Amino acid sequence: MGRFDGRVAVITGAARGIGFGTAQRFASEGASVAILDLDEGAAADAAGRVELADGARAVGIGADVSDAASVDAAVDRVVSELGGLHVLVNNAGVTRDNLLFKMTEVDWDLVMGVHLKGAFLMTKAAQKHFTEQRYGKVVCLSSTSALGNRGQANYSAAKMGIQGFVRTLGIELGPFGINVNAVAPGFIATEMTDATAARMKMSVEDFRAGVAERNPVKRIGLPEDIAAAVTFLASDEASYITGQTLYVDGGATLL
Ligand code: NAP
Repeated sequence: MGRFDGRVAVITGAARGIGFGTAQRFASEGASVAILDLDEGAAADAAGRVELADGARAVGIGADVSDAASVDAAVDRVVSELGGLHVLVNNAGVTRDNLLFKMTEVDWDLVMGVHLKGAFLMTKAAQKHFTEQRYGKVVCLSSTSALGNRGQANYSAAKMGIQGFVRTLGIELGPFGINVNAVAPGFIATEMTDATAARMKMSVEDFRAGVAERNPVKRIGLPEDIAAAVTFLASDEASYITGQTLYVDGGATLL
């Protein structure tokens, strides 16, 4: 028996990276999963690659989490195609790094729009179902960058904003049987961090090796590390945990 048998989980930005790894983990524990991503083709392709438990299903849905109409249509589709909604993972993300004096308004708005407004719109759409059924789990992706990171004023502000968002919703939604938490990853090997290596004119291998060397547990993180934390917080074992942010970074923020 899986922890998520009979449950439906929607994971945003799940065509690849941490989101895909998380969708796969939910599916391996019995959930049906909806993979939301900007590009419907990429989402459908990813849904086709998820290994499912008996009786579970996966769908890929194209949606822009920063657009209210797109979000509402996507959540309606999840409920009608998979027969309900129990878990929301706000994972979709982008980076537009630059020092403050070079950061454009467009890059500020894009990062705020995807991370913060996206989490707001998705959670608002999901909570209608969660409050009616008196059950729901929301897990948002924050980041160690919330604590401050050179060149990421937009991303850091958004990721710390996520921490305030989950603390507030923990208070508001707790009485309705809804838990809202965040996971704050450190360095995780995905296309997002590969792009950072490229911006720093380093090979992916050298970049990852340097990060691993500086980390207390002497390795980089993998999407599976984050999937384990997200699924724990979305499970009934964590029903007395809400409004919290769990750092999953190999101890990087202890230094
Ligand atoms: P990733 O590989 O870049 O994947 C992010 C996914 O989100 C992409 O498929 C992207 O689609 C999608 N996306 C972007 N904008 C979207 C929108 N408006 N609507 C729907 N989907 C959208 O990123 P990742 O490394 O897996 O990161 C996942 C989450 O973890 C993000 O919130 C990130 O900030 C956070 N995080 C990552 C790390 C890390 O080290 N990797 C560390 C801390 C926190 P497109 O490809 O079409 O843009």
